[in-house]
Amino acid sequence: MDPVRLRYLQAMGIQAWVLRQPVGEADSNAAPADEDELWRRLLDEIAHCTACDLHQTRTHTVPGTGDHHADWMLIGEGPGEQEDLKGEPFVGRAGKLLDEMIRALGYRREQVYITNAVKCRPPGNRDPKPEEVAACEPFLQRQIALVRPRIILAVGRIAAQALLRTKVPLARLRGKVHDYDGIPLIVIYHPAYLLRNPAAKRQAWEDLKFAWRVYQQRLQEADG
Ligand code: SF4
Repeated sequence: MDPVRLRYLQAMGIQAWVLRQPVGEADSNAAPADEDELWRRLLDEIAHCTACDLHQTRTHTVPGTGDHHADWMLIGEGPGEQEDLKGEPFVGRAGKLLDEMIRALGYRREQVYITNAVKCRPPGNRDPKPEEVAACEPFLQRQIALVRPRIILAVGRIAAQALLRTKVPLARLRGKVHDYDGIPLIVIYHPAYLLRNPAAKRQAWEDLKFAWRVYQQRLQEADG
């Protein structure tokens, strides 16, 4: 790993996730793997994971998609039916609306990284249980350590509450800068909610503008 990335990881307080042998890796004497190899191992482990009951009912795991070096990382709660069938996060109508929200930020889907708190579909589209989120979190942490985003968007109440380990309602989580392992985290509405409640789109736009300002501030701090 090059020194700049190493310093960045250290500054973010997340070096242990990358420099240490990743969770589940057996050979502690092996030479440090390059980033592509770390991604390959991570995706392979997710594909074969049986760490929680959700593996029993999944069709496909849904690890995530997008730019492995994105500044923006979007994290939803978990795959739904169509995501489970395709193995991709945020497909269907909600996915299209999320694409529009990403475009409002000035990006295409492939320029950000999109994933979920759990990588397997909760049956019947129920909310993931806290123990399922906890079982899957090491994968999310490894993804974050590899992508090194400058900002995280928690997409929807369930994802926000799971990531922030809180029961505070979404209305009180919006419009604030939270912290996820040293990275600013902003809570936004889930596009499925916005499809059911189009009147909330105005607030959703405010959330995106707020996130953009936080991102710009982060860039300036990095430059300074
Ligand atoms: Fe493993 Fe996560 Fe799937 Fe549970 S949800 S089986 S922890 S990959």
